[in-house]
Amino acid sequence: MSVKNRILYIEDNYQNRRLVKRLLKRKGYELIEAEDGLQGIAIAAREKPDLILMDINLPGIDGMEATSRIKSSSDLSHIPIIAITAAAMRGDRERIMAAGCDDYLQKPIDNDQLVETVRRFLGSPAEETKPAVSDLKALAHELKSLVRDLNNGTPETNPTTSPALPQTSETQPMTQPKNPLPPGAATPSQTAPSGHA
Ligand code: MN
Repeated sequence: MSVKNRILYIEDNYQNRRLVKRLLKRKGYELIEAEDGLQGIAIAAREKPDLILMDINLPGIDGMEATSRIKSSSDLSHIPIIAITAAAMRGDRERIMAAGCDDYLQKPIDNDQLVETVRRFLGSPAEETKPAVSDLKALAHELKSLVRDLNNGTPETNPTTSPALPQTSETQPMTQPKNPLPPGAATPSQTAPSGHA
């Protein structure tokens, strides 16, 4: 619960929401979505996210108005808001920051820049390492079942190797007498014939 990883993304473009959600989920963040400003404010009030990504061009009230309303709420004013806006609105940076945004990113969204900015506010959630551990556990589980399958499979492979046994049986008598002989018994029998002859 102490991990700050819940992000509300207020964005009317589904494609952008999908891309950002996938990216940030992979980095261990939880993404909540809103499609317009009013919905965004309502969800912010209800969910109390740790961070808000705010598209500026929104239907209804725009991102600046939504930011002003969120920042004027004593319940929500502490939540950092990162504005995301089109490059064409370059001159609006001051207005966007004046509306209360804590930072500012331009579209098209640069993945690395987005992750770096989010990390600056929230840090890296511990969850980021958890998928790796669970992946390893899943892999170990998979390997165990694979080994089990292999062990269960050996009786079935024996009949297929048995036709090859006559070939190996020729080499087996040559190796077998050497190995079973005790070292103590082997040396006298070898030296005895040579010594008497
Ligand atoms: Mn938009």
